[in-house]
Amino acid sequence: MLDKIFSGLCFGVLSLGFVVTAHAADAVNSKCPVSGKDADGPTVTFKKATIGFCCDKCKSKFEAAPTALLAKVTPDNGTAINATCPLSGKDIDEDQLALSAEGETVATCCGKCLAKFKVDPAKFADKLK
Ligand SMILES: [Zn+2]
Ligand SMILES: [Zn+2]
Repeated sequence: MLDKIFSGLCFGVLSLGFVVTAHAADAVNSKCPVSGKDADGPTVTFKKATIGFCCDKCKSKFEAAPTALLAKVTPDNGTAINATCPLSGKDIDEDQLALSAEGETVATCCGKCLAKFKVDPAKFADKLK
């Protein structure tokens, strides 16, 4: 009897874990750039990127101001297109990810460069290869 309850509980926790970590299959991000929640809802195609959101409300907010919200997208489901930081020229840190103006996944060498990159991604377009 107790065993049955226990395995039932385990199953419940496991399935909950799946829901929490789920994201839209082809989205570059796992967190909604508007709410910060899990991006397991609708997606929007922005140039070369598919961006995931938690709900239609957040999707609409992004569509209304994509350039402003682009900096909030963390493309953590892909590989960076560049090997060196577009700002410093140093080796990239795979944890410092942002989207380029073209929707490509880009990495910088540190958080400082990442913050500068996000202010105006278009400015560094010619430094990305
Ligand atoms: Zn939402
Ligand atoms: Zn740096």
